[in-house]
Amino acid sequence: MKRKKSPYIPFISEKYPPTYVEQAHKATFANESQILESDSCICFYCGHTFNPQTEEKLYWITESAPREKTLQCPMCGIDCLIGNASGFPIHDPEFIKICTESWFGGISRISDGLTVERLALADILLED
Ligand SMILES: [Zn+2]
Repeated sequence: MKRKKSPYIPFISEKYPPTYVEQAHKATFANESQILESDSCICFYCGHTFNPQTEEKLYWITESAPREKTLQCPMCGIDCLIGNASGFPIHDPEFIKICTESWFGGISRISDGLTVERLALADILLED
């Protein structure tokens, strides 16, 4: 398994250098207040885009104190979301591509060209 800290970068973006992509990765962690200030957020694994303000239920991962919680994707269950309040260009296709390629080593639903759909993991999470 590839570790998050040594991303494989098959796609080179001149617009978004690795240091910038690394900063963006940090925004996917302990991002509760950033997400709650956003009216749009995207999952960099499956591409699901939604408004956290109107979402019926948000699934959070509790991090060790004093860190904030981390949002989990309602569709795929992966904790790789960024909201527009972060200031990152979350709707730029080049930004989305360089992030998903860097963080998942070219293996993500976005890289594979798959459509957004609710995965089995999310089904488990949705059970109350
Ligand atoms: Zn997702």
